[in-house]
Amino acid sequence: MNMAKVIDGKAFAEGLRGRIATAVASLKEKHGLTPGLAVVLVGEDPASRVYVANKAKQTVEVGMNSWEHKLPAETPEKDVLALVEKLNNDPAVHGILVQLPLPKHIDSTKVLSAISPAKDVDGFHVVNVGKLSTGQDSLVPCTPTGSVMLAKDVLGSLDGLEAVVIGRSNIVGKPVAQLLLAENCTVTIAHSKTKDLPGVVRRADLVIAAVGRPEMVKGDWLKPGATVIDVGINRIERDGKGKLVGDCDYASCEKVAGAITPVPGGVGPMTIACLLYNTVKAACAAKGIDQPAM
Ligand code: NAP
Repeated sequence: MNMAKVIDGKAFAEGLRGRIATAVASLKEKHGLTPGLAVVLVGEDPASRVYVANKAKQTVEVGMNSWEHKLPAETPEKDVLALVEKLNNDPAVHGILVQLPLPKHIDSTKVLSAISPAKDVDGFHVVNVGKLSTGQDSLVPCTPTGSVMLAKDVLGSLDGLEAVVIGRSNIVGKPVAQLLLAENCTVTIAHSKTKDLPGVVRRADLVIAAVGRPEMVKGDWLKPGATVIDVGINRIERDGKGKLVGDCDYASCEKVAGAITPVPGGVGPMTIACLLYNTVKAACAAKGIDQPAM
């Protein structure tokens, strides 16, 4: 029976972080440049606290400067905007990340738009979104970047492949589709109104699932040998225990796919690694020097 190759995102991310650490050491030595990432967390959301702590830990591990700004949930919007402005003007800060979701009284679009596009390491500012869609060099959202890195690692060139992206969010679906277009894929973006989703997915050599619906994509939706990148992270209860699953039904998909990312251990670990990558990129651009190979 066919069993798909498992795409080990954890190992790939570890390797990428190692190359970033080497790049950071050489920037310090040759240019006196230490890339720095500032993370802003407003409120007490437990999941966000864990993400921010992991980001800070991995930032320090690769030799970069890390600043965490933890503000109480009731912080007025104007104070968050003032902090972003202060970080925009701080030359030691090369990347700014405002952890989402923000409390309801704060307009996330307004805050994200206030971040200088040159320091927008999440790649959510309209300037970076516009640059990505017009094929200009830009800071690209981290999870899409990581997803495409994994696809290229397993497939080599993506030239001419039929790619189906399920999901059209600004955070994952749309930017991943732009990246695949830039890699010369023929891209279809599917969403909740797509008719005959299994039929659309069956055309794909490469499936990127970013839906947020546990185990929705079944093995019999896949073209045999297709590569499956599962972005979904869904917490479910099974046999009385909490479990993380993706948007693809791994058990049936691994029997049909050529290669597949597991959840956890696939796309998930790539996100922070790509955030560090973007911070090095932003630091080099700020200093006007070439980015080292990573
Ligand atoms: P989102 O903003 O909720 O977008 C979900 C997309 O899926 C929407 O475009 C929606 O279509 C589409 N969709 C929903 N139900 C569907 C259905 N039955 N059939 C086809 N399409 C359907 O979610 P997101 O932020 O993109 O995140 C997607 C998943 O990725 C989540 O599980 C999230 O946890 C995970 N994620 C992981 C990482 C990471 O690995 N680090 C990062 C970000 C997100 P409409 O537009 O028509 O509503």
